[in-house]
Amino acid sequence: MQALTLGHFKITPVRAGSYWWDGGSMFGVVPKTLWSKSEPGDEMNRIEAGFNCYVVDTDAQRILIETGGGVRHDERARERMRLPDPPPLTEVLARHGFDPESIDVVINTHLHWDHCGGNTVDEGAHVRAALPRARYVTQRGELEHAREQHPRDAVSYRAVNYEPLIESGSMHLLDGDGEVAPGVEVRVMPGHTRDMMVVLVRSGGETWCHLADLVAFAAQVTPTWVTAFDLFPLETIASKTQLLGQAAVEHWWCSFGHDPRVSFAKIEVAEGKWRIGQNRA
Ligand SMILES: [Zn+2]
Repeated sequence: MQALTLGHFKITPVRAGSYWWDGGSMFGVVPKTLWSKSEPGDEMNRIEAGFNCYVVDTDAQRILIETGGGVRHDERARERMRLPDPPPLTEVLARHGFDPESIDVVINTHLHWDHCGGNTVDEGAHVRAALPRARYVTQRGELEHAREQHPRDAVSYRAVNYEPLIESGSMHLLDGDGEVAPGVEVRVMPGHTRDMMVVLVRSGGETWCHLADLVAFAAQVTPTWVTAFDLFPLETIASKTQLLGQAAVEHWWCSFGHDPRVSFAKIEVAEGKWRIGQNRA
């Protein structure tokens, strides 16, 4: 996977491993005959999903977007997800030449385990920040929903990934859209959860957007291709239509929460149909 130069910034894709999850749940009401053309399943109907993280080097700061699924999985979960030996995030970062101490800001687009599982590490009985110098940011509404532990999605929220950071003061809660560093903006795009954010990075007249789970796979660029996990599917369609429309017109580079192959892609709209244009592994 190659880094992308965006104006004066550099964006490095860092895949913190991948897991295998039921293809039907990833594509909601879309029939398998359609989605399996781009995401072929294994013998148990599971498709590969990357833990897609990105490091943004701006002029002044180093920002990590997402921290992957972490290593805290019991034997059964590891087997279910074909995740025998997940690498610790710090090891993955080191492989790309990034010192954990060098990360200034961590953005969790939302608090599902597969986006913030590498936020913290265990040191004996103590849990500490995996990126020790970083200011972590997420939405206040997302944390409130996580704490609600609603039966529908409580399983996606694990307190160990965020509560220790709230307690230590490392995690900052945003109330809506905002700029987390010069040139790096987060925007709430409801659908997957009520408060999930996308990340917009702009430099030298170019834009890159990390769509996270608003568009988890490149194949979901069609606005109605929505995962079964989404709490508000109609809002997902509205959010996608709005954002991807802008992405197409303004020739943004885009990235997806879990696509196992595509790191960066441009979006095209032709004859009312949405599709992936120029793209890179
Ligand atoms: Zn996800």
